[in-house]
Amino acid sequence: MTESLFAERCQDFDENFSRIRERMEKAALSCGRNPEDITLLAAVKTVPVELINYALKKGLRVIGENRVQEFLEKYDRLLKDQCECQFIGRLQSNKVKYLIGKVTCIQSVDSLKLAKEISRLSSNAGEVTQALVEVNIGREENKGGILPEALEEFLREAGGLPGIQFKGLMAIPPVCEDQGELCRYFSAMFQYYVDMREKKIDNVSMECLSMGMSSDFEEAIRCGATMVRIGSSLFGKRS
Ligand SMILES: *Cc1c(COP(=O)(O)O)cnc(C)c1O
Repeated sequence: MTESLFAERCQDFDENFSRIRERMEKAALSCGRNPEDITLLAAVKTVPVELINYALKKGLRVIGENRVQEFLEKYDRLLKDQCECQFIGRLQSNKVKYLIGKVTCIQSVDSLKLAKEISRLSSNAGEVTQALVEVNIGREENKGGILPEALEEFLREAGGLPGIQFKGLMAIPPVCEDQGELCRYFSAMFQYYVDMREKKIDNVSMECLSMGMSSDFEEAIRCGATMVRIGSSLFGKRS
């Protein structure tokens, strides 16, 4: 990145960051929620580490990476003491070893095999890794995630594992025709989140409902999201 392009992207970020925070606040207040109860996670795939570090200096706190390789390439230069890194992409069990001790939370846990590997490697390292269960809310074959009806059984089994602490749910709904359809997916997620909390499953807490991206985060907030994951509206379109 040339210096002038970098300066431009920083300036764009400043504007985007304040606009996004305003919109999040407005969406929260519009449905009687406390804006402080909603965390902004910046989805940083393809974003150069210089720009991420700039964003961190400007007050961004939580970032999410999708790809292990890309995460590792950036990790050494990242201002780690100023941020919390989470993993939000699809994850194969054989790559878990690269993340333990480096990310606080893996949002995309969608199989017992993956949960067991996170548990095993975290325990060996004396770490506890937080996790969210990814729910395949649209029942899409090409997407990861546990089907809603399998959620309780999954949490009962995986919740008992050492070294992994389940904290909530994550979802990426299908592309929707209209707001109403989208809202039904988000609301269904909120209902599962509440249901799972009420089950009081051992070692499982429901504190985080991660849903909503650039195009739909306000709707997600109105439906109960406690975390939104925003990429392109913060850093610009990905090439
Ligand atoms: C890229 C990504 C986002 C953010 O998407 P935008 O539309 O750029 O805001 C959120 N969640 C996941 C899992 C992603 O991969």
